[in-house]
Amino acid sequence: MKKLLALLLALTMCLALAACGGSSDNSAAPAAEETAEAAEPAEAEAAAETAETAEAAELPTIEAGKLIMATNAQFPPYEMIADGEGVAGTGLEGIDVEIAAALAEKVGLELQIDDMEFDSALVAVQHGQADMVLAGLTYTEERDQLMDFSDPYAQGVQVIIVKEDSPIQSADDLANAGLIGTQRGTTGYIYCTGDYGEDHVSAYDNGAAAVQALMNGQVDCVVIDKMPAETFVAENQGLKILETSYVVEDYVLAVGEGNTELQTALNDALNEMKADGSLQAIVDKYITAE
Ligand code: GLN
Repeated sequence: MKKLLALLLALTMCLALAACGGSSDNSAAPAAEETAEAAEPAEAEAAAETAETAEAAELPTIEAGKLIMATNAQFPPYEMIADGEGVAGTGLEGIDVEIAAALAEKVGLELQIDDMEFDSALVAVQHGQADMVLAGLTYTEERDQLMDFSDPYAQGVQVIIVKEDSPIQSADDLANAGLIGTQRGTTGYIYCTGDYGEDHVSAYDNGAAAVQALMNGQVDCVVIDKMPAETFVAENQGLKILETSYVVEDYVLAVGEGNTELQTALNDALNEMKADGSLQAIVDKYITAE
């Protein structure tokens, strides 16, 4: 659509130029202006491309033309290491990775994904080392002071993983749970330390490490997002997820605080994906209905 508009603009410019003998003062289409005179179909297409690239290059990112995403690729099915090349040659796959690739294409930027611990990803976007975080990231008011968010694109649920024979049977038992395992910097950690105190919570680098600690008997349960929890339970014998969930939350994409232009561009693109069903198609590819 944008391409078509730029093409039309270029053609209109061409006609206008022919009509008034070459003098032009069209400030509405500065990018198409220089090439408008030679608007043969092929060149007009090139002019339209230029207009599009020029617009993308104007988006305030760390490196012009690039969208650097920070994530933690140990969070299936949202982000994980791929067997092969992964999505768009990133070596990663998952719901967030596919969404990121589609968003990058829509806003005309080249996607680069930097894989790191979850808490480092939050720091990276605050310190201008990443343009965005897409990492099954939960909206919280506290985080909203430090970065800017998109509209929600998915729902997350904090659940409790225990060993099959555990005395912990519901969220009410967490108060007497002994030691709760969580991932550093996550809402699971924040809620559990808030509700039960730091002495009752151990923080691990990522979900896999927290689950390993549960297997080894170093913690009595793990509080973590539902989707990765299901993968971890499927991969490790003797674990189960309790029926009662702990907290329900919204997943959002984050950009640096005050980067309204990038926030708006990405949010518009995300909402387009919600409206045309492409977001749901990605979710359905990774999460099959129970
Ligand atoms: N949803 C949780 C949070 O935002 C965990 C995210 C993650 O570990 N990738 O804190």
